[in-house]
Amino acid sequence: MLTVSNYHYIRDDFSARYPSIFGITPDAFRNQLSALKNMGSFISPHALADNAEEVLLSDKNFILITFDDGLKEQYQFAVPILKSLQLQALFFINSINHIEKKISQVHKIHLLRSVVSSKELYADLVAFAKIDLADSDKEKAQHFYRFDDKSSAEVKYLLNVILPTAVQKEFIDLKFRQEFDENQVLENLYMSEDEIKSLAKNGQIGSHTHSHIPLGIQPEEIMYSELHTSKNYLEQLCQVPLHSVSYPYGSGNAVSEKVAAIAKETGYKLGFTTLPGNNTSGSNPLLLNRFDTNDLPGGKNEIMGSVNSEAK
Ligand SMILES: [Zn+2]
Repeated sequence: MLTVSNYHYIRDDFSARYPSIFGITPDAFRNQLSALKNMGSFISPHALADNAEEVLLSDKNFILITFDDGLKEQYQFAVPILKSLQLQALFFINSINHIEKKISQVHKIHLLRSVVSSKELYADLVAFAKIDLADSDKEKAQHFYRFDDKSSAEVKYLLNVILPTAVQKEFIDLKFRQEFDENQVLENLYMSEDEIKSLAKNGQIGSHTHSHIPLGIQPEEIMYSELHTSKNYLEQLCQVPLHSVSYPYGSGNAVSEKVAAIAKETGYKLGFTTLPGNNTSGSNPLLLNRFDTNDLPGGKNEIMGSVNSEAK
């Protein structure tokens, strides 16, 4: 059996003008690793790629640690903790951040929402796109983003659900340039190529596709190019074969049997979703479940508690 835990942001301080970036503190991460230790034995990415079938069939529980998005803070804070415990993890990288030197859209939105209020962003968006939410949509927004306050839910719904992707991109790019220096963000937010190379030496790098878009709703040729471009880039950079991919967003319409089949064709051995659950003998190695850190022991309450108190 295989249990996979997944992380994104890891930093000491999550305070912001408008808190919109959530994750785990290094201390909470260390505590969660201790809790996970009681659930089974940690497995390195290398050992898993070589013995996936045996691991899934085994009665013993193996635990894999993963990180999405290739963030520099993961290298700064998680890697030293892992090293001190002689553990390894899989870090999934988007190649657009390196090949095109572009910030992923999802991170632009997180950063923008940390400096601009939801109300202001909503008003700007309505003025820019000449589109507004009907009352029935506002109700849907509340259900869709049930953990968000009313104005956050509405701006996220308008942005992510109602607006065509191209308009969303145009708006976010424009607003982002007004608030941030893109090159500086790029350098501070993502691991450098040297950092990626050092993690790849012992098999700790995987692909998070090229540009962090939901693969399941793309035409086949885009699924293929997203999976291939990132694999090819990382293999050229690191001079090691790449076995694993984590699918951006990782659930709902972002993954499918088709996506998994194309990942396999592209040469991946392991594919990771964000669907919670353990993996056993019946699991498809290209559609593995992963628990979010919040779902696991030592997770949710501690993190939510610290984030909430910092927000006040
Ligand atoms: Zn991601």
